[in-house]
Amino acid sequence: MTWILQPPPQPVLHVAGQSAFFAVRRIWCVGRNYAAHAREMGADPAREPPVFFAKPADALVPALQDGAVTVPYPPKTANLHHEVELVVAIGTRGVNIAADKALAHVFGYAVGLDLTRRDLQAAAKKLAQPWEMAKGFDASAPCSAVLPAAEWPDHTARIELDVNGTRRQEAALDDMIWSVADVIACLSQFVALEPGDLIFTGTPEGVGPLLPGDVAVASVTGLPELTVRIAAAEAA
Ligand code: MN
Repeated sequence: MTWILQPPPQPVLHVAGQSAFFAVRRIWCVGRNYAAHAREMGADPAREPPVFFAKPADALVPALQDGAVTVPYPPKTANLHHEVELVVAIGTRGVNIAADKALAHVFGYAVGLDLTRRDLQAAAKKLAQPWEMAKGFDASAPCSAVLPAAEWPDHTARIELDVNGTRRQEAALDDMIWSVADVIACLSQFVALEPGDLIFTGTPEGVGPLLPGDVAVASVTGLPELTVRIAAAEAA
């Protein structure tokens, strides 16, 4: 086969404790999946259920085995926000997946940040416009190595984010409005879930700004930790 342009590099996640890689296909995201966060964003979790959106796969910034990544401060924002999230890595295809069969489609779990240009998102919401430029920008999805599901049986874990040593976000995964199984069941009604798809499952309350020089440490009990260093904006 010959190409006009060489195919782009395959986005990947490391697999914890292994030399193998997990090839990433698409990045799906859930918005407003924790009631307290929905309320802090001005939404009513009882009236407005979780929403789905996506980021391009090459927005992924995969952590090395040491869990550390550096992300440049993105352009066109004065209010970059952190959102710490449990990430589900899909291993087998499915459509209209039943909730009680959903976890069988999971290869593993990771922790990631759904980095958000909050000022652009607020402007888009006001005008009923799409969220892509607020959510799907370059390097907007730093993510830890993925731990195979069999090695992480504890879905009652806690999710936490510290910035420069200060706790910013903290919740129980049980606080999710839609569980991992519910998210897979619902999303698979809209699209066929494919091996390599990632699902960022939503953030708890406490989202806030990140600035160049900040170091954010994201963790979910039992999963590889993720350390994200915010660098200066990229020059021309
Ligand atoms: Mn999010």
